[in-house]
Amino acid sequence: MSETDRMLTANAEWAERFPGSRPVAPARHVAVVACMDSRMPLFPLLGLEVGDAHVIRNAGGVITEDTLRSLTISQHLLGTRETVLVHHTDCGLQKTDDRGLADLVQEATGHRPPWTGRTFTDVDTDVRESLAVVRTTPYLASHEVRGFVYDVDTGLLREVV
Ligand SMILES: [Zn+2]
Repeated sequence: MSETDRMLTANAEWAERFPGSRPVAPARHVAVVACMDSRMPLFPLLGLEVGDAHVIRNAGGVITEDTLRSLTISQHLLGTRETVLVHHTDCGLQKTDDRGLADLVQEATGHRPPWTGRTFTDVDTDVRESLAVVRTTPYLASHEVRGFVYDVDTGLLREVV
């Protein structure tokens, strides 16, 4: 059975305990921007239920043009007012640098990507950079944002101030 088939089986089980439909606007008026890391199940680790929050994920949980597009829609169309950033220890983006990633892709495919990987070495610095971008972007209705590092070995969040 492929992984997709296993997920379809799991979905049928999910539908049997489905909690029912919810409004499109998140009930707790919060958006989470987080890394795509497979060890961060954001809803349980933040105490969120279905319909509570938007979750925007990418490699690193970095604030890109598309992250800002999603946050802007989240706030102006769907009423969120708090933003929570969740980066984490042992991130894949700490395993190389931007040039190394571009070299790797070019060697494998013959094509050098036009974007940078947004790799980083210090996770706290990376969170501070993301906080600064959210706080200064002119398109948001609310600049209320806090940033955290999730420890993948303990399950605990640590705030970056
Ligand atoms: Zn990561």
